[in-house]
Formats: sequence, structure tokens, C-alpha cells
Amino acid sequence: MFQRPIYLDCHATTPMDKRVLSAMLPYFTEYFGNPSSLHQYGWEAETAVQQGREIIANAINATPEEIVFTSGATEANNLAIKGVAEAYFSQGKHIITVATEHRAVLDPCEYLQTLGFEITYLPVNSEGLIDLEKLETAIRPDTILVSVMAANNEIGVLQPLKEIGEICHQHQVLFHTDAAQAIAKIPLDVQEMSLDLMSLTAHKVYGPKGIGALYVRRRNPRVKLAPQLHGGGQEKNRRSGTLYTPQIVGFAKAVEIGINNMAKENQYILQLREKLWSILQQLEGISLNGHPTKRLSGNLNVSVEGIDGAALLLGLKSIVAVSSGSACSSTKIAPSHVLTALGRAEKLAYASLRFGIGRFNTVAEIETVGQAVLSTVKSFRQKAVLG
Ligand SMILES: *Cc1c(COP(=O)(O)O)cnc(C)c1O
Repeated sequence: MFQRPIYLDCHATTPMDKRVLSAMLPYFTEYFGNPSSLHQYGWEAETAVQQGREIIANAINATPEEIVFTSGATEANNLAIKGVAEAYFSQGKHIITVATEHRAVLDPCEYLQTLGFEITYLPVNSEGLIDLEKLETAIRPDTILVSVMAANNEIGVLQPLKEIGEICHQHQVLFHTDAAQAIAKIPLDVQEMSLDLMSLTAHKVYGPKGIGALYVRRRNPRVKLAPQLHGGGQEKNRRSGTLYTPQIVGFAKAVEIGINNMAKENQYILQLREKLWSILQQLEGISLNGHPTKRLSGNLNVSVEGIDGAALLLGLKSIVAVSSGSACSSTKIAPSHVLTALGRAEKLAYASLRFGIGRFNTVAEIETVGQAVLSTVKSFRQKAVLG
């Protein structure tokens, strides 16, 4: 059998932890009940859902009633942004977000623009961080929501949530964060960070795909949210649909493992990243995208002068699975909106590679990948010289 390439694309998704799978299995077959049912099968499932809810809530210092299960972070972001817009439009139709957000935040905002909402897209500096003064001056009397992601999915940059939360709180504007990349990777505390809404997903922390949650504050203030899915009234009417018990159990297990091992695991993953970066720095014309330290431990995003990222990706495809900073839409290849927001020249945005290092990677894998990138870039450059 052919060996598969080394997986270094943990910002796209992570392999599921086997401990998560074991926790989930009984809930597919044996404890299959509908958590809404009023009999033993229902109660068994409901108990598991409730335990999962508590684990997720504890992980972010929220209460179980403040957790609304969704199909993932995309749905959580849509529910937060559209749900707040619909519930608060009589108070104002202005929303503030950031140029480097995930499409699952930017696209709901663009949609709201078509309904007459005004969106301010805050810029970022060359390291990917927002300017707190610019945020404060952007807040207007009709601002109803600020949405700033916790950790960026391309460059791993961590925004200063606590400081942002203080500003939003002072101005009595709701604060939402997309924490898809951050949950169980960095400490998150909805009280300390004055968060009103937070989007989560399981599959970026070694959990199953198709499950996530939205944290919705219930006290000081009690956040109003217009549901986006209507039906059986589950999740206190905030999100209808039969709860997916095995996925919830797996999500909770993944978060629990992540939280319990966070410090140790970050240390391990950081050491792998530093190893990879020290190998790659042997290349001429290589530069780091994003802040050098205020970033996820597993993220390394680099640009290599004169090299096409998509071509490099193909050149490496038998060795390593990574992403480049350009996204292929159906018609054309466009440079990443995140890298262009950093002010990277278009050429360098095309010349980027994103490594996402995770729990199951090894030092040997990192060495193999590092050497493969060195030799592939060198051969590209030789070919260019030979013309
Ligand atoms: C992956 C990701 C999403 C989408 O999450 P899904 O659960 O796949 O819908 C949203 N935001 C960020 C920052 C992400 O990394």
C-alpha cells in the first residue's frame, strides 16, 4: 500500500481522537433515544446531552443553559449574527467586524448589508492584530454587535478578547467571537472576556464533524436571539432540530481532553512548530505571516519569495498535506483575504503555505516535511534559473 502524506492541515480539520470515538459509540446503537422523548430511552439520551452541555459550559465558564448546540461554527456564527440583527434592529443596524474573519462571519454580514444593515470592517496591522482605538472610534449609537474572532484560521493570530470585551461592555454593545480555532487550545472565559456570544466547533479539536455550539449570555445582559431554524422548539426555542446525541458526547469528550491537557500539549506542539520554522528559515526569502508569538501554538504560515504556493503544494503532495494561502473558487485562484489584509503584496500572498500542527504529529514527521520543503523550493528555483 502507498503511504499517505503526513497530515499538517489541522486548521482545516483534525483527526478524531480514538477516545472520542469510544465515548460516542454506545450512543449510536444502544442509547439511541431522542433526548426530547419522555421515557427511558429519551432520558438516557437527555442525560448524556446534559452532561455534554455542562462540560462545554465549564470549559468557557458559562452555565449549561447558555449553550445552544448547532451543526458547527458556521451555523453558530449565522445564528449569532443574523439572530442578533433580527432581534435588535429596532435599536440600530450597525455591526462591526474585522477584515480577516472567516467567511462564515463575513458572508452573514454581507447578507445583512443587502437587508439595509451597515457593516464596518476593521483593518488589521501587518501582524494581523486589530487596533483597539480604531474599534472604539468605530462604535456608534446604532452599533448593536461587535464580532471579532478569537484565533485566526489562516495565520493563527490571537486577538485581545479581554480588552475588546471591556470596550464593548463600556459602550453596551454585544460582543461575539468565533472561537472555532481557539476552544481547548487557549484559555477562554466568557466572564473575564465580557463575551455575550461565542461560536464553537468540535472538529478542530479532535472531535467529530457536524457538531458545534453557540454560547448565548443569559444574565447581564440577557441576549435576545431570533431563531434561524424553526421547528420542534429544542434548545429553549433557540435552535430546533433533534439533538444529535453521539456528536454532542464526542464534542464534550474532545473538549474535556483538550482542556485537561492544554498547557502540556501547547508546549509539545510549540516545540514542533519551532523545529519546523528553524528548518524552513534556511530558505532565502522566507517570511512569517502573522504575529510571531500572539498566535496558536500549532500555526505556521509562511511566504516564500518567487514561489507559487499552489504549485509548491502540488510539488509536496506525496509528502505532506498542507494548505496554501490562495483559495480556489470555481472560476479563479484568488490570494487569501487574510494575507492581503496584512498588507502582504499579492505575490507574497500567492507564495504562502499554512502548516497546522496537531496532537498526533511527531518530531520525525516535522523533520521530513521541513527537508522536503527545502528541497522542493530549491528544485523550483533551479528550474527557474535554467528557464
Ligand atoms: C472551521 C472554522 C469555521 C467553520 O466551522 P464548521 O464547524 O466547519 O462550520 C468557522 N470559523 C473558523 C475560524 C473556522 O476555523
